[in-house]
Amino acid sequence: MGVRNGQQFIDHLKSNPRDVWINGEQVQDVTTHPAFSASVEQLAKLYDMQVANETEELTTYVVPETGERAGLAFMPAMDAADLNKKRVAYRLWAEKTFGLMGRSPDFLNCSLLAYWESRELAAKNGPEFPERIAKYYEYVRDNDLFLSHALLSPQNDRSKPSSEQAELHMRVVNEDKDGIYVSGGRMIATLGPVSDEMIMYSLPGLQPGDEDHALMFAVPTDSKGLRQICREPYTLAGQKSDFDHPLSNRFEENDSLLIFDNCFVPWDRVFIYRDVELSNAYYVGSALRNHTALQTNTRALVKMEFAVGVALEVARSIGADKFLHVQTMLGECLNEIEFLKSSLLRSEVECEATSVGTVRPLLGPLQASRTHLPKAYPRVIEVIQTIAAGGFMMMPSGADFTVPELKEDTDKYYGGANISSLDRARLFKLAWDLAGEAFGTRALQYERYYAGDPMRTLAMNYMGANDTEPKKLVAAALALSGDPTPAKS
Ligand SMILES: Cc1cc2nc3c(=O)[nH]c(=O)nc-3n(C[C@H](O)[C@H](O)[C@H](O)COP(=O)(O)OP(=O)(O)OC[C@H]3O[C@@H](n4cnc5c(N)ncnc54)[C@H](O)[C@@H]3O)c2cc1C
Repeated sequence: MGVRNGQQFIDHLKSNPRDVWINGEQVQDVTTHPAFSASVEQLAKLYDMQVANETEELTTYVVPETGERAGLAFMPAMDAADLNKKRVAYRLWAEKTFGLMGRSPDFLNCSLLAYWESRELAAKNGPEFPERIAKYYEYVRDNDLFLSHALLSPQNDRSKPSSEQAELHMRVVNEDKDGIYVSGGRMIATLGPVSDEMIMYSLPGLQPGDEDHALMFAVPTDSKGLRQICREPYTLAGQKSDFDHPLSNRFEENDSLLIFDNCFVPWDRVFIYRDVELSNAYYVGSALRNHTALQTNTRALVKMEFAVGVALEVARSIGADKFLHVQTMLGECLNEIEFLKSSLLRSEVECEATSVGTVRPLLGPLQASRTHLPKAYPRVIEVIQTIAAGGFMMMPSGADFTVPELKEDTDKYYGGANISSLDRARLFKLAWDLAGEAFGTRALQYERYYAGDPMRTLAMNYMGANDTEPKKLVAAALALSGDPTPAKS
């Protein structure tokens, strides 16, 4: 089939109704429901870029085996230049959403590429497993499907292993000659309600006894026995004005809890089966983080540049950028952009070979940025809040600018240093959407947690660290001291 355009993405969602609940109601059509229509529209715009004259070459490639185009996230890279090409595509998509839609389709498409490159690891479960992974990668690539995922068991009691909460956690409950049946919960599937497929695997941490939970598989989102219950939407289409909520009206990504109830998975979609050791090892062994981090750090760079830009504009709009401590804060924010840019470049230039003759980005610099973002992004948001201060609360609704009786006052009292009342209100509304509203708070929580618990991810950095150079330097310095001798006077 090749790449889809936005309308094809929407049509596919429409013709595959799924079991989705939000605000106490079952959703009939996710493409028109006011909680999802805006994100569907934004995603459709991304798909449209794959067929637009100006962006087709930049966002897609021709798959040699089929002669059809596919998104660049699926493309195996042969050298650093290929990785750079992929990064350009990720950036073009991220810019469309100001980096605010973290789970755009390219995110999981990169994971599939990583699974394809490392599929031989799955042979531990049986010789047919690598082939299943290869076939699924080709299926998603050639049909340009949109995947969502939910890697964690629901947050009930984190002190107990899954085997002690088996009824709550997703697990295999039956198998027959055709496939397996799964039941139980999983959190959280961002954009799950508007996805085409769910791919399920686990973060490391399963324990012996958790075999029934040690699975990797994929099912269509409209599968019988797969229900999604969404969090409360922060905005509904048409409910709030674009002037007051320019970001949340467009880029809200809903998140859902997945509930499997005897959901059937055919064997050809089962990629890891009842293997705790393989499930725990696959997350690192498949090197999926190398690929996803290139995509997601590129997106995060756009989001960071946007947030820093908002901080700069807010400061300048009220003349606060003349103060030394404000300049210091802004300088700190600008540094974050430079760190992110450098790590992306190094991950490409020092890319590493895979076992199938392709290359993947170097993980170290990407992971360093990724584990720094949970501190860096909230800091930039804090800087916006600190500089805008009570200015956020001084702003009227956009509607007040349309009232003739208020015009003299609205024109007069809301202006800033070299900025009109209307433009300053527009800027502060944008800043509040990003740094104050529920939408902005989720966008912050996303950077803190989307790649897993930052505490444990940082610890994983230590466990997998390349410490050759630090050790060499310390050894050289220790050699200076020689054997103990009295001081020479
Ligand atoms: C906005 C948003 C979108 C997301 N989208 C997705 C998505 O699309 N797909 C997906 O799979 N995931 C998604 N995630 C989930 C993300 O992967 C998890 O939030 C993250 O892994 C942390 O897990 P948790 O939320 O269950 O926190 P918990 O693991 O419950 O942690 C809660 C607290 O307890 C501590 N803690 C818990 N267990 C331990 C332990 N064993 N050892 C030490 N400390 C512990 C943690 O440090 C933390 O402070 C998203 C998260 C957010 C916030």
